[in-house]
Amino acid sequence: MKKIRYCKKCLFPETKPGLEFNEDQICTACQNYDDRSHIDWDERKKELMNILEKYKNKKENNWDCIIPVSGGKDSIYQVVKMLEFGMNPLCVNVAPCGPTDIGRKNMDLIKELGVDVLEFTTNRKLRKKLNKIGLIEVGDITWAEHAAVFTVPITVAVNYNIPLIIWGENSQNEYGGPVADSQKNVLTREWLLKWGGLLGLDSQILIEKYDVKKSELIPFEYPSDDELNRVGVTGIFLGYYIPWNSFSNFLISQAYGMEGYKYACEGSFLNSENLDTYYHGIHDYFKFLKLGFGRVTDQVNMAIRRGMLTREEGLKIVKLREGKFPISYLGKPLKEMLEEIDVTMEEFIEVCDKFTNKQLFLCDENGNLVKDKYGNLSKINYDNVEDNI
Ligand SMILES: [Zn+2]
Repeated sequence: MKKIRYCKKCLFPETKPGLEFNEDQICTACQNYDDRSHIDWDERKKELMNILEKYKNKKENNWDCIIPVSGGKDSIYQVVKMLEFGMNPLCVNVAPCGPTDIGRKNMDLIKELGVDVLEFTTNRKLRKKLNKIGLIEVGDITWAEHAAVFTVPITVAVNYNIPLIIWGENSQNEYGGPVADSQKNVLTREWLLKWGGLLGLDSQILIEKYDVKKSELIPFEYPSDDELNRVGVTGIFLGYYIPWNSFSNFLISQAYGMEGYKYACEGSFLNSENLDTYYHGIHDYFKFLKLGFGRVTDQVNMAIRRGMLTREEGLKIVKLREGKFPISYLGKPLKEMLEEIDVTMEEFIEVCDKFTNKQLFLCDENGNLVKDKYGNLSKINYDNVEDNI
């Protein structure tokens, strides 16, 4: 049994990979956020304008930059901003597995904004196989998707000779990775391997152990250094140059026609994100099993840092909404999602138990996880023990 320590300002636990606490037990994500008030944002904006000017195609015979887009609030915001700055982007979308109606609608909206969009769908038959392998091997059904959303836009950059890629936020800044990584303004191969969510499952394992053909993995491969250098590919995080706020990104995207879901998504307390695929529910649940926190904590923390919720209010919301067995997502039953990848409910529960960090959840005297009749676990401590509520 392990009593997790939490940041005293937000609700991030020490189990979060890469997160560090200072001597006051304040996490790196909160420190990064506080540092934003000392940043000269006018200066950063000038830096951004210089970069855009440098990469703008003066001959008007190629696109100025690539924007990887999912159709979500952040990608709509990125497109709106780049158009505002006079750029002519090529938007690249990697079609998700288990696409939702609302996700498709929002993706279609991007096409109405006045940009070219390239949609790339990886082999769906293979993706089902990879989703099953990802779930069983590393406890992440969206492993293949997370790989492709990084590799495909970079491959497009190489093949279309468009050096500049505009990413959204540096997830290690808002979510508190180590200092060197969270203050990066460019996305490198090193960053991707470390933080891109590949969890150590690489193509060699897929080829040797699962009989996947090398040629089937082309979209999941990162271009070689030679290719990247030839084109001079540079990926920048827009959140380094403009203060990033997911809440206002949604408001702005809504003004352009983006739709939120009709209620707060399962495993979430917002209706504005993770709308593109049904698999988000399973993905976030495994994060909860492995680390003892899920997407609700991420969302609540962003609201706490921005003064929209107190820590106590956030904690109540986390207890109410986080870590429920993912019986459905956006109304789609788990059973149907599992059938698509040829996994039974029994197998799924076995995999859940395998990836659960038993030190963080209540177990009986035999060491078995205690579950309620809906399959929900009991987390041992939701807050620091000394000031436990
Ligand atoms: Zn914090």
